[in-house]
Amino acid sequence: MSLAGVLSYQGGYARHLECLKKVGVRAIPVRSVDALERIDALIIPGGESTTIGMLMERFGVMRALVSRIADGFPVFGTCAGAILLASDIEDSDQPRIGALDMTVRRNAYGRQIESFEADVRAELPGVRRADDPSGPEWTGEAFHGVFIRAPQIVRVGHGVQTVLAFEGQPVLVRERNLLAATFHPELADDHRIHRYFLEQVAGL
Ligand code: GLN
Repeated sequence: MSLAGVLSYQGGYARHLECLKKVGVRAIPVRSVDALERIDALIIPGGESTTIGMLMERFGVMRALVSRIADGFPVFGTCAGAILLASDIEDSDQPRIGALDMTVRRNAYGRQIESFEADVRAELPGVRRADDPSGPEWTGEAFHGVFIRAPQIVRVGHGVQTVLAFEGQPVLVRERNLLAATFHPELADDHRIHRYFLEQVAGL
């Protein structure tokens, strides 16, 4: 039976663990290389990307994860997790995984609207509902996006697919085994995106 993990140093890891439980996947909190080696897919939650990155380095998880990702290990980063996955972070040399070819701008929505909720929509033709592969495509469907001091994805590389967009900008992107969301799908009572990660990106 597959085992998923949620990086659990800081930030919103508890809600991701609950979501995984609700979709029926066994999951453990991950704080060590030992735990990382036991799992088949990893979620990196929102929180403070500098703090999470520093702790990943301190516990040796950064190096181990970078090497697993190169072998095809599936990772889903939300918000701070998306920042950690990005190859380029504007005006920052903070520790990162750096495996997803995109540029992000931290806290990009400014102070007045640091946090907001908005509908985000499917952009990628052919993305089907993960819970019903024979059903309608996601194209045009709305998802409830909760943005909390969210980054913006200001550039994506050629191999990166935009799965969901908001105001013309990518907010959920995929590059091979990596998925990144600038918002918090674990806070909306909707598990389509977790299922999409587990079933279609991770193949669990
Ligand atoms: N602003 C945070 C950062 O730059 C991310 C916010 C979040 O994860 N909700 O790390």
